[in-house]
Amino acid sequence: MDLNKVRHLSDAGRFDLACECTTQKAREKYTEDAIQQATLGGIYTSHITDGKTVKIFKTLMTNSCTHDCNYCQNSTRCTKQNAKFMYEPDELAKVFMHLHKNHDIEGLFISSGIVKDADFTTDKMLETVKLVRQKYNFKGYIHFKVLPGVSYDKVREARRYATRMSINIEATSAQRINEFTSIKTFKSDILRRQAWIKGMSPPSGQSTQLVVGAAGETDAEVLNMMRWEYDNMDLHRMYYSPFNPISSTPFEAREAAPKWRAHRLYNVDWLYRKYGYEFNEIKEILNDNGMLPNEDPKTIHAKKFLTQPIDVSSATKEELLRVPGIGPKTAQKIVELRKSTPNLKREQLHEAGAILHRADPFIKVNGWSQRTITAF
Ligand code: SF4
Repeated sequence: MDLNKVRHLSDAGRFDLACECTTQKAREKYTEDAIQQATLGGIYTSHITDGKTVKIFKTLMTNSCTHDCNYCQNSTRCTKQNAKFMYEPDELAKVFMHLHKNHDIEGLFISSGIVKDADFTTDKMLETVKLVRQKYNFKGYIHFKVLPGVSYDKVREARRYATRMSINIEATSAQRINEFTSIKTFKSDILRRQAWIKGMSPPSGQSTQLVVGAAGETDAEVLNMMRWEYDNMDLHRMYYSPFNPISSTPFEAREAAPKWRAHRLYNVDWLYRKYGYEFNEIKEILNDNGMLPNEDPKTIHAKKFLTQPIDVSSATKEELLRVPGIGPKTAQKIVELRKSTPNLKREQLHEAGAILHRADPFIKVNGWSQRTITAF
């Protein structure tokens, strides 16, 4: 086995965020296993379903690519061409099964650059997951990356083996994507494939990734796209990858997007998906340039709109969810608690999970409220 290939293709997988890979497995962990050593760059702890954490192996099928994305090290426009590798399907299936049997890996995330065309490359990926499922009888999690421009039949076949599927939208519009590639078409190559995936309902849904800051888009454009995606594509999650320039690519001199920008987009995404904020409320958080300030968006909203303290003894769940320091579980607990204890005390709010130092400027508890919101 070519361990150099294994190492390169495991490391290259880290650029794709379209899964909940929160923690990379510690590289320094000592192991005498050569394959595990080579794959440490691609082993992550991932939250694949609510509350469940598993170790997954992320890899590319190949780091060759015929596409020309201006920010990507695999692109034809990258002037420093790194060594190129491609797995044979049986080779990758064996690497994965070795990790699964010996190192508790419970999932596979398979993505790829595009060689020849999307169908050719997808056939290689399909052969791999078919072997993993049918020859090696693996029953666990497989995240299958759908490549832009691939045929319907290939997506259909991937659905047979995948737990979750994703295709990266990368940009907020056709105009924006044209700023970094002359090959991918936004509507046809990407959104159309997303609609196919939606129609096939993978068991664990579909996700996508948007590169933030590569094409000069505003947060207002990102949020419009976020809304469109959640409302139209039954998206499980949208991931925001802050653009980071890579040397020898056409975008090497562009400024990196600050990490906090992606962090604030995740905050707002959460308000939309989990807290039930209307899109019009979210737009109010943006500044005049259409960008999110680097401040907790829920607090910005509360300072602007909660001009009177919210009385926790009578507020609806929706009103409680507008208070900083009160999340969905806490709001539900408060509503339940009030059935037996109409006048809740501060200790009870604390026990229900409220973060009182954040909530205090915006709530009234037993007739008491902090005197002014500006005291916050
Ligand atoms: S299609 Fe993917 S791998 Fe290929 S150049 Fe674009 S971002 Fe890179």
